Amino acid sequence: MKFKKIAVKIGSNVLTRADGTLDITRMSSIVDQISQLHNKGVEIVLISSGAVASGRSILGIKKKMDVVDQRQLYSAVGQVKLINLYYDLFREHGITVGQVLTTKENFSSRRHYLNQRNCMRVMLENDVIPVVNENDTVSVSELMFTDNDELSGLIASMMDMQALIILSNIDGVYNGNPADPTSSVIRKIEKGQDITDFIQSSKSTFGRGGMLTKTTIARKIADEGIEVFIANGKHDDMLLRLLDKKADVICTQFVASKGDVSSVKKWIAHSEGFAKGEIHVNENAAKALSGEKAVSLLPIGVTEIIGDFEKDDIVRILDHNSSLLGIGKVQYDSQKAREITGKKNQKPLVHCDYLYLE
Ligand code: GLU
Repeated sequence: MKFKKIAVKIGSNVLTRADGTLDITRMSSIVDQISQLHNKGVEIVLISSGAVASGRSILGIKKKMDVVDQRQLYSAVGQVKLINLYYDLFREHGITVGQVLTTKENFSSRRHYLNQRNCMRVMLENDVIPVVNENDTVSVSELMFTDNDELSGLIASMMDMQALIILSNIDGVYNGNPADPTSSVIRKIEKGQDITDFIQSSKSTFGRGGMLTKTTIARKIADEGIEVFIANGKHDDMLLRLLDKKADVICTQFVASKGDVSSVKKWIAHSEGFAKGEIHVNENAAKALSGEKAVSLLPIGVTEIIGDFEKDDIVRILDHNSSLLGIGKVQYDSQKAREITGKKNQKPLVHCDYLYLE
């Protein structure tokens, strides 16, 4: 096997039929593959969508409903069905699964993050496969993950996985319109390779995600040193073939960067949504930060502090043109930071170990 620790994300469109009902044959085949990998000692966390789609088809409500009401109601009903099916299907292989329903807020502080990591770690240590989904029933619209692709990236990063496999209903990222017979799947995407021209902004039928979030998250995760694959989960034995060293499978691989990103940096990298303030820096500081060497952000290079934050909060760091340079954990509160803005010989405002550059 190429990898010993993997996160597998399964999209709603892989798990459902055209009428929105759960495709039990497909689910059963994916469970068979995961079971085989599990029995070979591969550590797996499964991130599965499908709750909303499944709930919608169970209830079959015809009247018009508010979008938030729909999400809350359908996911509450559909998640039960989904996890029960997983539970029963894995049981046939003698494998136990556990359910983890999470929200973006559960990643907001380092404490929440470590708590979440511990929960999945203890499951894996006890041979239980975590089946993760967003807790759509209680999540607040403004504080939701863009989709489960984003959630799966966070989990792959948090659990130090070697690979993240995103199973969708498309073969990968195409170099044109997928419906056009002259376009083909881009097999490998290297760091820094610009693919924006190829990305379709259209979304799939049942899920929230689209190719744009998939590729954005895939690149970010690959830059942290995790191999990311976008592959078609509707094709037979996709997971097994993808992980087989000898097989040549049509899919898109985001080639992982070399070098280890520390656990703290990984957390910071995914925390932009929780930033409490902004630090604006001058051109020299922006240059130094973007250079090859790891440098800390010193008060002398700071031009403005925006917002109120406490020591250890997450802040966004912006250059002289107000473009985002990175995200960091501050060593001072905003009041102290303002006092020392532009001053020489001060301790760093953000230490390089707690600085993630875009
Ligand atoms: N959490 C949603 C569900 O289970 C899916 C979100 C997405 O489409 O990525 O239905």
